[in-house]
Amino acid sequence: MEYLRLSHEQARAMIHHAQASYPAEACGLIGGQANTAHLLIPVTNVAANPNSQFQMAAHELLQGLKTIEVAGFDLIGIYHSHPKSDPIPSSTDIQMAEKHYPQVAQVIISLKYQRPRLKAWHIQPGRVDALDLIVGKSVAETPSYRLSRAQQMAIVLAACLSLIIMLSISLTLLPPAPLLTPAPR
Ligand SMILES: [Zn+2]
Repeated sequence: MEYLRLSHEQARAMIHHAQASYPAEACGLIGGQANTAHLLIPVTNVAANPNSQFQMAAHELLQGLKTIEVAGFDLIGIYHSHPKSDPIPSSTDIQMAEKHYPQVAQVIISLKYQRPRLKAWHIQPGRVDALDLIVGKSVAETPSYRLSRAQQMAIVLAACLSLIIMLSISLTLLPPAPLLTPAPR
């Protein structure tokens, strides 16, 4: 995955959703095909701290995934807004994306500046890459963002944690050592 393509209308719809939800974060699903968005599905944010986190309402999430499937598309992205911060994934965003949807694009709409900024990311276990976000026919002009040291540490930490969890799970799943019986003579 190197890019995500949106229409101008889709970009505007995401920004409107973000602005209407302010100061809470807005979130939703992006259905499409071959990195091109065809369907935007806003989902209610039910996080305990909706101003700094998002959690999609479970039944709406399931319904949205079904709508995308019925329309013949795939889930190609998830969007959410940062009402007061840059469009850079937070450590919580990174952990959530790694755990639940490592294969789709993550679009973040930032309302920190006078003009809303959109940025797409691809978050996989142990790494976070910026994606080109193509709106209409041209690549959206956003300043390039560099991850801070703290964010890079969060990525490494999350990767280490999941490795430790995986190891401990696989250890507990190991069958007990076979009893050694003397070889028959
Ligand atoms: Zn976020």
